[in-house]
Amino acid sequence: ARHALQHSQKLEAVGKLTGGVAHDFNNVLHVIGGNVQLLQLTNRDDARLHKRLNSIQSAVDRGAKLASQLLAFARRQPLQPVVLNPLQTLQAMDDLLQRALGESVRIRIDADDGLWNTLVDPGQWENVVMNLAINARDAMPGGGVLSIGLGNETVDAGHAGALDLVPGDYIRFSFADSGQGMSAEVIAHAFEPFFTTKPVGQGTGLGLSMAYGFVKQSGGHIVLDSEIGKGTTVTIYLPRSAQRAISKLGAAEQDVVGGG
Ligand code: ADP
Repeated sequence: ARHALQHSQKLEAVGKLTGGVAHDFNNVLHVIGGNVQLLQLTNRDDARLHKRLNSIQSAVDRGAKLASQLLAFARRQPLQPVVLNPLQTLQAMDDLLQRALGESVRIRIDADDGLWNTLVDPGQWENVVMNLAINARDAMPGGGVLSIGLGNETVDAGHAGALDLVPGDYIRFSFADSGQGMSAEVIAHAFEPFFTTKPVGQGTGLGLSMAYGFVKQSGGHIVLDSEIGKGTTVTIYLPRSAQRAISKLGAAEQDVVGGG
């Protein structure tokens, strides 16, 4: 638990710093981008210059995309949790997931019968699931299976400490890939903001740290389990809600709980 607290404080400090830097960085990019556009307009017939300007423009676009990811990370929006059927949260993303995973990765979803409902912010939960799916895809360059399991889990006092959870009822989501796996070293750092083993431009190192921050803030927990050459399983526990799930997002205002 002490380790977890330090981790949250670190996340918060990094978030603040990052937000400031990303904001200024964005302003700089705006000045560069604006001037490039002007030069493009006034130098239409110089093909070589035009090519150079295009490549500056696309670098500016990449930088702007990174800056907006950093701002989203730093902002720590208040959560707006709603009561949802956990299986439906994934089924609603089916197309999105399949597109992110590409043709060579298959998705399997196995849900226990009688799943409880959960209380979670739908938009941010979707981001977490997408990040996990993209990590799974990147770990399986030759294709494979992303197997998602859902089940009810009652965490008693004896196990709560180890899982860093309050004893109670949770929904367990496991995301298991058949990919390259992670070394002990990578596992030890994976939740740190900006830790990435991916090439520059491909990884930001923010996916798992965002997932960690979100899951903790939601009253849950996230665990990594991985073996080199075999694959990785990310297990997330989200709290159970005893309330009736809303069938369509935004359709039942009275079921919206809390406000962050
Ligand atoms: P990013 O994906 O941008 O690198 P993350 O925080 O999501 O940032 O992940 C950090 C690192 O953890 C990755 O660079 C990778 O080394 C490792 N990792 C995460 N998920 C997996 C996975 N499913 N299989 C293997 N390695 C993974």
